[in-house]
This record gives sequence, structure tokens and C-alpha cells, in this order.
Amino acid sequence: MDSIIARRLAIVTTTRCTLRCKLCSNFMPKFVKPADVPYADIVADVDHAFELFDRIEWLQFVGGEIFMNRDMADVYNYCLKYRGHFDKLVLMTNATILPNAKEIEALGKYGENCQIQISDYGELSHKMKETCMLYEKHGIPYIMKTYYGDAQHFGGWIDNSKLLKSNETTEQAHKRTLGCQQVKLKNMHCYRGQLNRCSQSCFMYASGFVKPNEGDFVDLNDASMSTEKKREIIENFYKYPRASCFYCVWSEMEKNVLPRFPAAEQLAGNDL
Ligand code: SF4
Repeated sequence: MDSIIARRLAIVTTTRCTLRCKLCSNFMPKFVKPADVPYADIVADVDHAFELFDRIEWLQFVGGEIFMNRDMADVYNYCLKYRGHFDKLVLMTNATILPNAKEIEALGKYGENCQIQISDYGELSHKMKETCMLYEKHGIPYIMKTYYGDAQHFGGWIDNSKLLKSNETTEQAHKRTLGCQQVKLKNMHCYRGQLNRCSQSCFMYASGFVKPNEGDFVDLNDASMSTEKKREIIENFYKYPRASCFYCVWSEMEKNVLPRFPAAEQLAGNDL
């Protein structure tokens, strides 16, 4: 079998977040009991990933808000054992909470091969100044994406929250989703041992709002399935649509026909 390279592999480490965004692309407000993923489960996902992939370009850890999980320094240190097998460690944050000293020390060990991606939500990102100063002080590379005012990154967010099922055939859905950004990026996402072809599959299934079809994801903890079989499923990830694709509008993004909304509009009270 040819070598398998993951361009983007995101491992979900928490479903807790400091914000409650109405159009959260990861459906975080829909999680009934948001929680951190235990350290042992995260490193099990890491081990399985490096068993299945010959190389990972971007190893990402995502939430929720990544700095809500305070065990992450140990995870970053643990990943150093695979340092020769991935290019870059990438984290995303909303600048509402700072990493702790242990996290900063661990991230510093990656030097230029670490990148913090900061979503700047204006007033909501109330720790923005301290965040930037902290990374500058410790020489940790970061980039910022602006999500407020009139010049929002990509014109703002799309609304993928309706989760209405399309009545397309599998062939029609496959054709449509070939143009999907997540497919083009091969943006695989893993949550508690389930490796999915994209973030939307991952979070639609994990939140319980869409039921996956048989074979939609790889169960990394299934010891009865061989590594070769799991690699075969990964190789077929983008060859047919998943159950999630029938509920998803991401593939329409390329056509520039989807309305854009201001990012990070907050839900009130217990609204979903
Ligand atoms: S259409 Fe949605 S569910 Fe399907 S691959 Fe794209 S992002 Fe994932």
C-alpha cells in the first residue's frame, strides 16, 4: 500500500469553550455536557494516528477553546516523541484565555514549527493584547485572523447550523462534495477514537445530531480491525460522501453563493 500522508489532522481535546457562538462551525453549543477529553484518550489518539499515517503535515489540537483543557502541556511534550513524523504543531484560540506557564514551555520546544492561530473577535477576544505579548515574549509564532467589523476574514461565517437533510442521490452528493474545502484540504478530525474525513462529520456525529453510516469513520480503538483495514478506510475517505454530507452546506462555499454572517454572534441564555 502507498504511504498515507495527512495534510491536516486535528485531534479534539475539549468541547468546552469560553464563548457560545450561534454559528459555531464545530457545533459546540449543541454539546449537552461539554467536557475535556482525558489525557490518556488524547495520547491514545496521537499514538493511533502515527501508527496509521506515514507523515502528518499539520498536527492540530482543537476544541472548543483549546486552552480550557489544562492537561495540554503534557500532550505537547508527549508529541515530541513523534517530532520527526509531522511538520508543524498548530493550535487555534479565541484569545479569551491564556495558556499557562507549562503550556508555554512545552510549545516553546517546537520553535518555528509551532503556530498559534488566533481568531480575533474584537471585544469578545478580551485577552488579545496579553495573548500577543505572551507569544512574542517567548518567541512562539502566531497569526491573527480578524473576525469583527467590516473586513472579516472571508467576509464572516456561513450558517451550517440548520442540519436539514438533502434528498440527493449518493452520486449527486458525491459530485457536490468533491468541491468541498474540507475535502480539498483533507481536513481529518479525530474525537475520542473516531477518525473522520472532515470537521463537520466529526462534530455532527459527536454532538449526536446526525447518525453516521457504517464505515463513515475509523474506530481507532477497534483492536479487532487490522491497521491495513483502517488505512484502507482512510484511503477511501474522499471517494464517497458521508451521512454528514447530506446535512452540510460547506461544499457550496466555493461557489460564493452562501450568505455571510458576522462571526461569533453569541447565543443568549440556554438558546441552541
Ligand atoms: S460536505 Fe460537509 S460533511 Fe461533507 S466533506 Fe464537506 S464539510 Fe465534510
